[in-house]
Amino acid sequence: MGKVFVLREPRKRDREWNIYALREAARLKRWLDGVYYSPRLQRLLAVFRPTPGTHVNMLVFEEMGESVLADAYRMECPRGCNRCCVIHSGAFILDVEVRMLPDEARSIVLRQPRETVVTPGGKVRVYKLDTEAMGRCIFFDVESGGCKLEAYGKYLKPIVCLLTYCTVFASRNNKLFLKSGYKELRDGSVLINYREVDEKQWKRMVDRMGSVWRRYRKVLRSQRVGAEVTR
Ligand code: SF4
Ligand code: SF4
Repeated sequence: MGKVFVLREPRKRDREWNIYALREAARLKRWLDGVYYSPRLQRLLAVFRPTPGTHVNMLVFEEMGESVLADAYRMECPRGCNRCCVIHSGAFILDVEVRMLPDEARSIVLRQPRETVVTPGGKVRVYKLDTEAMGRCIFFDVESGGCKLEAYGKYLKPIVCLLTYCTVFASRNNKLFLKSGYKELRDGSVLINYREVDEKQWKRMVDRMGSVWRRYRKVLRSQRVGAEVTR
């Protein structure tokens, strides 16, 4: 079995380091395989498979044998949930990612509020994307329930959005699972329990999670109608 590169875990109360690590991960995002939960390591693993010869910053990545994924659950982000995009999204994008965007999307980002974070690897510009009503991301299409950046290619989405750490939905060996329990242990590791579900139960959960987005859409639609009536 081969090797994979896993992003080291974020450091507690060290935002500068974590932004630095995210920037390094963003450079490799086209090689992101996915985020897994390893019951053996009791830990989430953001797994990258860069082509041989690609420079990997070992300060923020560690190498692991692929066998670590044998019993791991893959984190899923099913279409229709949208919880991370619609309210209090906290979404942001890093300068290195903005440079990868097509002109049209880049010019939208460059009009957003930004801050410069001084990291151990130099200055990183961080652009806020959560500037619409109630923290909605500027790239979230409320009507269709999708990320507008996906039209340019999945890996042009911000690295924070690609790293699916929400852990609600998972898959393993073509089977579907939902989280049934979560506990943070004293040493910082996490114990996540999953139960296998059928498609119907899975869709029901997507529907439940997506209720926030649908309510938001309803309010937005009624506001639009109201604005048209008063015109
Ligand atoms: S809560 Fe989970 S499934 Fe829903 S949008 Fe966020 S990452 Fe995806
Ligand atoms: S960039 Fe896309 S995936 Fe990320 S929060 Fe915005 S709409 Fe959601």
